[in-house]
Amino acid sequence: MYRKIIGAAVCWLCISGMASSQNLVSSGFPELDRWAEECIERRSLSLGYPGNNDIRLQEFYEWYTANNLEAMIINNAGDPFAEGDHTLSSLDFEREVIEYFAPKYGFDKDDSWGLVTMSGTDGNNHGIYFGVNYLKGLTGRMPVVYVSDEAHYSNYRLCDLQHLDVQLVRSDPMGRMIPDSLEAVLDTSRPCLMVYAMGSTLKGAIDDQKALNAVLARHSGMAVYRHVDAALFGGYLPYTEFREMVDRRKMEFESISVSGHKFFGIDSPCGIFLTTRAVYDDQATFDVPYLNANMRMINCSRSGIEPLKFWWLIKTVGDEGWAEQARMIMENTEYLKAELGRIGWPCWNNDRSNTVLFRRPSDAVVRKYNLACGYDEAFGGAVSHVVVMQHVTWESIDELIADLANSADDVISPVQTE
Ligand SMILES: *Cc1c(COP(=O)(O)O)cnc(C)c1O
Repeated sequence: MYRKIIGAAVCWLCISGMASSQNLVSSGFPELDRWAEECIERRSLSLGYPGNNDIRLQEFYEWYTANNLEAMIINNAGDPFAEGDHTLSSLDFEREVIEYFAPKYGFDKDDSWGLVTMSGTDGNNHGIYFGVNYLKGLTGRMPVVYVSDEAHYSNYRLCDLQHLDVQLVRSDPMGRMIPDSLEAVLDTSRPCLMVYAMGSTLKGAIDDQKALNAVLARHSGMAVYRHVDAALFGGYLPYTEFREMVDRRKMEFESISVSGHKFFGIDSPCGIFLTTRAVYDDQATFDVPYLNANMRMINCSRSGIEPLKFWWLIKTVGDEGWAEQARMIMENTEYLKAELGRIGWPCWNNDRSNTVLFRRPSDAVVRKYNLACGYDEAFGGAVSHVVVMQHVTWESIDELIADLANSADDVISPVQTE
């Protein structure tokens, strides 16, 4: 479907697809060649995880290796916004990447700070760490972290790592944090560090920030910091009519984390983290003279290549390309739902979400499509999901639907319920 719509991309995709399946270039190592062959074979039918397998970095790699840049280390140790010597780093490009994205999430270009992270998790780590420091600076007290019981596990892990008190907040059957449950568990004697899920891992639920913010607003004496974990949906929402859901001017969050290897189409884990200058200024400074900077970010060495790929994609895909991809993803999600409905296969989907939950199919189908599986009583027990990313075309959806229709009576392994 994607191929049909974007004319210019059609031949490139067909040619590269053919070349890869027909002439595998040998590495001289059979085990590597077998691995490469399997990756190429499984690429288009891997539907269960939010990786984008329709990546447009071929020309970037050609340029990079043509200039032998792979023979050196490009290290972004340091702050992309600090003045100083940026030799053998891509910090200047990293800064441009952050300046491109800041307004997409409602941050003022002149009142924002950020970095290209190592992953969505790394962005959440910065959000939680910055939030703690900010609230501690403001009140002298450690906050309680509130996060829904359906949020991505990285948030719980990071709170554990940072030795924080966490209050899990119950979610409704579709996976959204329940405002009344937040009210019920809120400890108003301590600062509040909210982590909003956008979306939740299994069901793709988006916490209703307006309703939850309204709960927090009832407690005017309580200091609040809001971090949005928008690893997946934060990629495409700014390019849709629902962009205000990730706009801090509308939703009033202090920081946001988005993955780069999900929607944006970067081929190795990375992401972006954005916050305000006020939050940045309130962090403990770690003056590191040899880096010419106050080191706010957690890591010392950081990849200089990922910011370059981001920068390349901003120039070559950009607003128009990403808007087109976002539209396609939403359309193909509707198509998948309609087709599941047509064959009578129970399925569920949250608004604005490209994650479609459905009754778990046979083991063979789960394996073939690399489906992610889970268990939820509210949905009749064993469930699987498809995340409709750029490589999930009508053709792959049709193939899945045909397999589901033919496999209704096949073996389904017993699932672990907890
Ligand atoms: C994928 C995801 C994460 C983890 O991000 P990584 O980039 O894999 O570290 C966190 N939260 C949400 C909502 C996600 O979708």
